[in-house]
Amino acid sequence: MSFKLISGKEVSSEIYDELRTRIQTLKTKGIKPGLAVVLVGEDPASQSYVRMKGKKCEELGMYSVTTILPESTSEAELLEKVEELNKDPLIHGFLVQLPLPKHIDENKVIDAIDPKKDVDGFHPENVGHMLIGNPTFLPATPAGIQQMLIRSGIETAGKHVVVVGRSNIVGKPIAALLMQKGKGGDATVTVVHSKTKDLTEITRQADILIAAIGKPKFITRDMVKKGVVVIDVGTNKVEDPTTPNGSRSVGDVDFENVKDVASAITPVPGGVGPMTICMLMANTVKAAEQALQP
Ligand code: NDP
Repeated sequence: MSFKLISGKEVSSEIYDELRTRIQTLKTKGIKPGLAVVLVGEDPASQSYVRMKGKKCEELGMYSVTTILPESTSEAELLEKVEELNKDPLIHGFLVQLPLPKHIDENKVIDAIDPKKDVDGFHPENVGHMLIGNPTFLPATPAGIQQMLIRSGIETAGKHVVVVGRSNIVGKPIAALLMQKGKGGDATVTVVHSKTKDLTEITRQADILIAAIGKPKFITRDMVKKGVVVIDVGTNKVEDPTTPNGSRSVGDVDFENVKDVASAITPVPGGVGPMTICMLMANTVKAAEQALQP
C-alpha cells in the first residue's frame, strides 16, 4: 500500500509563514513578541529543546531570553523567577522546561505562571478552557498534531482515534482536542495505557492511531489495521554506532514495517517534533497580540 508521509517540517513551514506576517504586524505597533524559557539543571535533552526554541525565536525575529538555573535551585527561588517573568513587560509568554528536579513540585510551579503568559498551555485554567471547548493556549504537541491532521487533509469527524498514552502533556489533551465539536475534532476517541487489557484488539480498530508511549518501536504492524493514519509522538534515543554521536532518535512506532499498511504516517524525526516548537511560537505570537488588547 502506498502511504502519505506527513511532514512536520512542511506543515510547520506553512504556519511559520503565517506567523511572520503576524509578527510584522505586531512590530508596526511597536511590539516584538517575547518568549522566555527557564531551564533548571543540565538534562541534555532539555538543553537541546531549549536551544532549539531560542534559535527559532531568533529566526522569526522574536525576542527571546533563556535562563539556566543550577540543579540545586530551590522551589522558592524558581517561584521567584516565575514571578519576575509574570511581571516582565517584554515577555509575552514563558515556560519552565519540564521535567524539573525531584525536589521541586511541578504543579506548584505551573500554578504560579500567569495564565495569560502560559504558552505551554499547562496551567489548570488553560487546561479547563481547552476541555470546555473555549481554548486560550493549547498545549503545543497536541495542537501541533491537530494542525498536522487538518492541514494534511485528514478528516477526523466520525473517525475512531485511538490514543496510546495518557500523560498530561500529550495523551489526555490530544484526546480532549479531537473529541471537541468542529473542525479537527468530532472524533470518537479511545485512550489506552499500561493498564489497558487487550491493547492490540483496540489499536487494530483505530482509523487514526496516536502513539505517545515513550517506548521505541512499540507499535508494530500487527497492532494496526490496513489504511490507518499513524501519528508517532515518541522520541526515543537508541544506540547506533553508525552515527557520529553513537545514537539516533526513533519513534514509538516501528515505522519501517507499519508504513506499508498505513495510508499516512509521520516520520521520527521530522514529524511531530517540529510541530511542537512551531505551536509554541504560535502561542507566543498570540500572547503578544492579546497583550495589545485592552
Ligand atoms: P509519559 O511517560 O508521561 O506517558 C507515557 C504513557 O504511555 C503513559 O500513559 C503510560 O501508561 C503509557 N504506556 C507506557 N507503557 C505502556 C504499555 N506497555 N502499553 C500501553 N501504554 C503504555 O510520556 P509522554 O506522554 O510525556 O511522552 C510520550 C513520548 O512522546 C515520549 O517518547 C516523549 O519523548 C515524546 N514526546 C515528544 C514530543 C515531541 O514534540 N515530539 C513532545 C512530548 C513528548 P500509564 O499512564 O499507565 O503509565
